[in-house]
Amino acid sequence: MRKLIAGNWKMNGLASSLAEIAALKGLTGTATCDIVVCPPFTLIEKAVAESRGSAILVGAQDCHAQSTGAYTGDVSADMLAEIGAHFVILGHSERRSAYREADAAVAAKATAAHKAGLTSIVCLGETREEREDGRAIDVVRAQLEGSVPEGATSSNTTIAYEPVWAIGTGLVPTIEQIEETHAAIRQALEGRMGYDGRHVRILYGGSVKASNAAAIFAVPNVEGALVGGASLKASEFAGIISAAV
Ligand code: PEP
Repeated sequence: MRKLIAGNWKMNGLASSLAEIAALKGLTGTATCDIVVCPPFTLIEKAVAESRGSAILVGAQDCHAQSTGAYTGDVSADMLAEIGAHFVILGHSERRSAYREADAAVAAKATAAHKAGLTSIVCLGETREEREDGRAIDVVRAQLEGSVPEGATSSNTTIAYEPVWAIGTGLVPTIEQIEETHAAIRQALEGRMGYDGRHVRILYGGSVKASNAAAIFAVPNVEGALVGGASLKASEFAGIISAAV
């Protein structure tokens, strides 16, 4: 399956950061994987313009479940689609913990994203305590059941397995742990969607760098990465992309 490498800039980036997209264009001209950059809302339109004519697509980091209404401060999937976004990250662990986003809320946002023509990148992942208690697979399966909505297909949905304890910490699960968890996600997707579940891309996320990317991409059922810190610098992000092709 063609891999997808997505960069999550989180709340980082002013207009000057668009230079990283310009540099990335130069570094990834011949990439044979899909590349997505998810800057903050304020830079999406500019990032779309900057990436025009390249293989880079642009995504957002969240959206609201409704398309319009009295939701002060929120942004809808239709608004994102209108300014050229193609993807939206949903249910990132930082939003699940800081804003208490539950699985049902993530599923409602994913439905809105799909209706607007966006591909959702639905994040799942256990805490350190859940991993240590031997509950990681059960937790991830339950999150998948609750966060992936009816109507999800391999064309409108990507899964990102991101152990909470590996995000921004420099810690990475063992290859065996990644393999076991991705296999369980694949099985759950097939149970849910039948044959089409085989074609949903499952990304790994959590302290991916240019130096560990190739080993992670060699794991069965890993079809790319969701990258935080290492996506902020074009040279490091390009190193991850080149490990995927
Ligand atoms: C993320 O925030 O989705 C992430 C994976 O972060 P990092 O790569 O910095 O661990």
